[in-house]
Amino acid sequence: MKIGIVGGGQLARMMALAGYPLGIRCTVLDPNSDACAGQVAPLVLAKYDDVDALGRLMDEVDVLTFDFENVSVPALRTLADRTGIFPPLDALECAQDRLSEKTLFTRLAIPTPPFAPVASRAELDAAIEDIGLPCVLKTRRMGYDGKGQAMIQSVADIAAAWDRLGDQGELLLEGFVKFKREVSVISVRDRKGNIRHYPLSENKHRDGILTNCFAPAAADDVQGQAYHHAEKLLEHFQYVGVLAVEFFDVDGTLVVNEMAPRVHNSGHWTIDGAETSQFENHLRAILGWPLGSTDAIGYSAMLNWIGAMPDPSLALNSDRAHWHDYGKKPRPGRKVGHTTIHTESAAELHAEMAKFATSLGNQLASGADAFLIKR
Ligand code: AMP
Repeated sequence: MKIGIVGGGQLARMMALAGYPLGIRCTVLDPNSDACAGQVAPLVLAKYDDVDALGRLMDEVDVLTFDFENVSVPALRTLADRTGIFPPLDALECAQDRLSEKTLFTRLAIPTPPFAPVASRAELDAAIEDIGLPCVLKTRRMGYDGKGQAMIQSVADIAAAWDRLGDQGELLLEGFVKFKREVSVISVRDRKGNIRHYPLSENKHRDGILTNCFAPAAADDVQGQAYHHAEKLLEHFQYVGVLAVEFFDVDGTLVVNEMAPRVHNSGHWTIDGAETSQFENHLRAILGWPLGSTDAIGYSAMLNWIGAMPDPSLALNSDRAHWHDYGKKPRPGRKVGHTTIHTESAAELHAEMAKFATSLGNQLASGADAFLIKR
C-alpha cells in the first residue's frame, strides 16, 4: 500500500518509519529539500498548494494524509475525487482557525475558555471588558508552539499586545485559564467508525512549547471526560485517522484548548510505550485496516529536544531510554528529537527520570518534578 503525506517534518518521518514493517510505503511532499522525512522516504519537492504536484502524488498513492495543519485546503478540495484524503478536510479547515474551532467546541458542549474575535483595537478593548483579565490574545491562523500569542495580565499590557499582533489580521481573545495541569488525549477512528483512545498524557510546556509528557497520566478522574469530548469531535466529522485534543485540567473539569487533526507530539511516547504507536494506528485507520491496541505498556516519560540534540551518552547508556533524532539542523525553538524513558513501574520511572534531571538540568520542565512526586 502507498500513502502520500503532505508535509515532510518529523511527524511524516515517524509515519513513514511506522509503515515499513507493515509493507506500507510513504512518499512525502514538501517545498524544502532538507525536509527531514526526505531522509527516510521519497520526497516530492513542491509547494503545499501546487495542485499539479499534489494531483500527481495522489494518482500514485492509495490515500493522502498530512503531517501539519496549515496545508492548503482549497488546493486539496479541488483534488478530492482523485483519491481518499484523511483526516477529513472539514476537520483540517476547522482546526486551521481558532475561532471556528472554539465555536465548534461550544456547539458540541465541550467546555472551552471564553473567547471573542478581534479585528481592531476597539474590538480588543470591548472583548477585554467582556472576558476580563488576565487573558491571551492569539492569531486565529498559523499559530503553533506558542507563536502568535500575547499574554495580557493587566491594562498596562494591552497596548504592547496590540502593537505585537495588531497587524496580523484576524485575532482571537481568550480568557486565561488557571489550570492545575495540561493533559491531552490521542484518539483514533477507523473507516468503519470504531474508536480507540490512548491513556491520557500529562504535558508540560515552556514558553508555549511542549517539553515533557508523562503517560499514562494519573487521570482516572478526568480520562472519561476526555474520551467523551474526543468522541463528540470524531463523530461530528465522521473522522478517520488520529485526532489529538489538548485540555486544561481545572480542578477535575477538563476545558479544551485546541485540537490537532493529525498525529501529535504528545503521542510520541506511544512508539516505545504502547502496544501500537499513534503513527501505526493512523496509517491503519486511513488505509481501512483494523486498529491496533492502544494499551500502554508500563510508564513513559517523553523529553523533547528543542533547539539542538543533547549529548546522547546518557540515553544510550540507559537500559530504559529510547533515543530519537529527527536528523534536523539545530535552530532555536526547533523540535529536533526526543527521548522516551520507558519503565515497568512508576517508581522505576521516578528513579530513571531523576538521573536525567541531574544530568540535563533545565532541559527538563520544572513540572516534571511535580509529576514525579505525585506518582
Ligand atoms: P496553544 O498554541 O494555544 O496550544 O498554546 C500553547 C500553550 O500556551 C498552552 O499549552 C498553554 O500552556 C498556554 N496557553 C494557551 N492558551 C491559554 C489560555 N487560554 N489559558 C492558559 N494558558 C494558555
